[in-house]
Amino acid sequence: MADYDLAIIGGGINGVSVARDAAGRGLRVILLEQGDLGSAASSATSRLIHGDLSILERRAFRRVRTRLGERDIWLDIAPHVVRPMRFAIPAHADERPPWLLRSALWFYDRLASRSRLPRSATIDVTHHPVGDALKRPFGTAFEYSDCVVDDSRLVVLTALDAAERGAVIRTGARCVRADRERVWRLAVIDRGQRRVITSRALANTSGGWTGIVAETILRLPFPKLAAVQVGQIVVRRLFDSDNVYVFQNADRRLIFASPYERDFTLIGTVTHAFTGDPAIVAVGAADVAYLCDAANRYFRERVDPVDVIRVVSGVNLVPVRGRRPAARDGSMMFDRRRGKAPLLTLFGGDVTTSRLRAERAVSQLTPFYVMLPRWTAKAPLPGGDFAWERFDWEVEAVRDRWRFLTEVQAQRLVGAYGRRVEDILGEAKSRNDLGRSFGPELTEAEVRYLMTREWARFPDDILWRRSKLGLTMLAEDRDALAAFMAKGTAA
Ligand SMILES: Cc1cc2nc3c(=O)[nH]c(=O)nc-3n(C[C@H](O)[C@H](O)[C@H](O)COP(=O)(O)OP(=O)(O)OC[C@H]3O[C@@H](n4cnc5c(N)ncnc54)[C@H](O)[C@@H]3O)c2cc1C
Repeated sequence: MADYDLAIIGGGINGVSVARDAAGRGLRVILLEQGDLGSAASSATSRLIHGDLSILERRAFRRVRTRLGERDIWLDIAPHVVRPMRFAIPAHADERPPWLLRSALWFYDRLASRSRLPRSATIDVTHHPVGDALKRPFGTAFEYSDCVVDDSRLVVLTALDAAERGAVIRTGARCVRADRERVWRLAVIDRGQRRVITSRALANTSGGWTGIVAETILRLPFPKLAAVQVGQIVVRRLFDSDNVYVFQNADRRLIFASPYERDFTLIGTVTHAFTGDPAIVAVGAADVAYLCDAANRYFRERVDPVDVIRVVSGVNLVPVRGRRPAARDGSMMFDRRRGKAPLLTLFGGDVTTSRLRAERAVSQLTPFYVMLPRWTAKAPLPGGDFAWERFDWEVEAVRDRWRFLTEVQAQRLVGAYGRRVEDILGEAKSRNDLGRSFGPELTEAEVRYLMTREWARFPDDILWRRSKLGLTMLAEDRDALAAFMAKGTAA
């Protein structure tokens, strides 16, 4: 008998979503991730959970409706990491005309008719907080509802849910060879040790590496795909309002500027064809300048490339139609040859549809296993067992119970862990009860939780993926954290 029913190569959003779905349906699952969970494209998204207006423009109404349905599922099952936002599109005379935007948003509202989010509206920005940050001469803007997500935390919470339903999650475990017979036999370098595992089925969810894994590790032919790089920049906060701005740039591309970790703004995206190693993705100076120029066209406060605090980028694969990359909906391939163990390949697509994509992918395995029915749309992710409308109330409840927390600290903790914050703060009566501090936000109790429960092994796992505290942490605190974690890993 094989060790597992399903082995998964890759711990991005696609891999962890497959792991969660399959483990909850009763399969014995192992997920292998060569680095950290979400360390590649899945922590470099534009953080939008949305119906996608650009798809609406291409009249793909059914797709938009599906995506809006998924958006509302995310709000219900992950109310801590997925937050509703008002999106604002300032109307500009030389871009899409106002009547076109108004009618697009009318359709958007209709397609989201079951949603509890507020509907779209036309606003006079000369008398509305949305306009405060904007240059003149904007007079009108269109507002509508969508959501933003903490993408890398979504990956980790999905993995945590999978693990709590029995999946084995191994980070620092690189699959180096896979032999296919009636079962898969995988050779894995697991934190320096070579081990062999067997599995009845295999899922290749290795993102930008999918073709490389197929051809060199599974030694199977793989279709030619386009590799695409997506890049964004982080700058200081450019506006006070809690809106995401959507700009129609002069080249008709949509540019987003969203609030990012309270004190910052995320501006994106630029996409390009990519060649090379998906582990090494850089955003070039021209792209940084392009995004700054786009922001400067609209915001009063100027940003220049020297103001860029961080660039965020990742690579993924998209199918090619003709000579152009096809729509980024994600692709799934299922290979079930007689007498051979099945192979699922899943790549691309965005975070909004990742739950549904995984559900459909795992359903392909029903002829091979006795499986429980689909379940992921109704079950909250760890810590997400509260209604999204009560987020502020949850923050208040946390402050009532742990009175030493500031508003900002409570907001961050609830936004990251939801009700699991209890597992970190426990019976603490003061900040000292949480052990040593690494800067004003991070405590030893949180670091220990992340190391023991959320697979954090190195400072970057905490500072850039389990949180974004890397944006503000001082070098001496970072060094202290590194020393502390090195001791913990060695112990
Ligand atoms: C151009 C573009 C723009 C996008 N924009 C958005 C957007 O605006 N919003 C949005 O939500 N999404 C967006 N996406 C989609 C999203 O970023 C990705 O599709 C999604 O994160 C892909 O997740 P993944 O799990 O397939 O890959 P990844 O997150 O890259 O994960 C793959 C993992 O596999 C691991 N791996 C590779 N080889 C091995 C091995 N041999 N053994 C073990 N592990 C291995 C890697 O370390 C990596 O962690 C965009 C995608 C593209 C292409």
